[in-house]
Amino acid sequence: MTSPTTSTFLDLACSTCAEPHDAGRVQTVCRVCGRPLLARYDLERAAPVFRSGEFRSRVASMWRYAEVLPVFDPDAVISLGEGMTPLTRAPRIGEALGLARLFVKDEGINPTGSFKARGLSAAMSKAVELGASDVALPTAGNAGGAAAAYGARAGIRTHVAMPKDAPRPMIDEVRAYGAELELIDGLISDAGRWIGERAREGGWLDVSTMKEPYRLEGKKTLGYELWEQLGELPDVILYPTGGGTGLIGMWRAFAELAEMGLVGERRPRMVSVQSSGCAPVVRAFAAGAERCEPWRDAATVAPGLRVPGPFADDLILRALRESGGEAVAVDDEDVIADLRLASAAEGIDFCPEGAAAVTALRRLVDAGRVDRDELVVVFNTATGLKHPELRGVWPC
Ligand SMILES: *Cc1c(COP(=O)(O)O)cnc(C)c1O
Ligand SMILES: [Zn+2]
Repeated sequence: MTSPTTSTFLDLACSTCAEPHDAGRVQTVCRVCGRPLLARYDLERAAPVFRSGEFRSRVASMWRYAEVLPVFDPDAVISLGEGMTPLTRAPRIGEALGLARLFVKDEGINPTGSFKARGLSAAMSKAVELGASDVALPTAGNAGGAAAAYGARAGIRTHVAMPKDAPRPMIDEVRAYGAELELIDGLISDAGRWIGERAREGGWLDVSTMKEPYRLEGKKTLGYELWEQLGELPDVILYPTGGGTGLIGMWRAFAELAEMGLVGERRPRMVSVQSSGCAPVVRAFAAGAERCEPWRDAATVAPGLRVPGPFADDLILRALRESGGEAVAVDDEDVIADLRLASAAEGIDFCPEGAAAVTALRRLVDAGRVDRDELVVVFNTATGLKHPELRGVWPC
């Protein structure tokens, strides 16, 4: 190990029973209760870098926040330039919706065209640091491409299982990066079972969403970037939610920023956006439930939202409620219309998940749940380029 990074990572603790876990070896979920593990940092030691603004002159990637990322060995960091994506004003969409301060966080600019790059950069780096040889994951599409790219970069064998009806460019991408791909006749949940069995037999590191602790840490940087780019936190965040990693991650980032004295008590209202064809979080939120029931026959044009049973459902629902936020389901028809409208209005390449957030925002403004002068951030979580079927270019 060369001179260590400035990481202040301490250890892991269970999100449910608080059982501590040693961070010096491979960990997946809590050994006591099976729920997700969360990383802990020495934030007192991390704070000066953020208070002084020292981090601002560093590399233009999410690794500029090294103090609050889990990798110690700089040589283990697998980076393709993920993060530090534009936070772009969206005045025309704002005007159409009746909002004065609307921003789009354009995650389509990331390597492999989606914000999955953040999570996989962190997870793959930690896998290198801990000496893993094989990494595996189920995906609805974008996480597979990111895993394959970061796996190639890391020299780690990568095994991906994806629904066979995922968008073709997502399938091609995994193969192009040289990962092993299994196409599954089913959903991401079926792909998860396939990976789970083989991972146990083959000794692969299973980095399924929230079943290992480090993808969350990469996605957490979304929250740090909003703070850095705005100089404050927004009033409302619309987040297209599948497994919920980014939403839970941002909620943790805001808590860390507050603990370091960098923001006050006020927090953004977090809004989960889902498709009416797969809305387990929306249904559980409306019912006042703490956990989600698996959604049956999940179907939507937005693969990132086609997650019938998010593993960290309790953490998603808790963040929504603590934030005073809510959960909204939108119809595919409206999403496809908004994808075209929003892309043409701003020159931002909207993916269906990002367009769903625009649709949801319109609904909230119309219902008087978001005010004209509030600072609103919509997440465009990926590029639209992997969706030729929605652009009227290819036959559907
Ligand atoms: C994975 C994905 C999502 C959902 O992200 P989570 O953090 O798992 O909720 C949203 N949009 C796109 C484009 C995705 O690939
Ligand atoms: Zn536990």
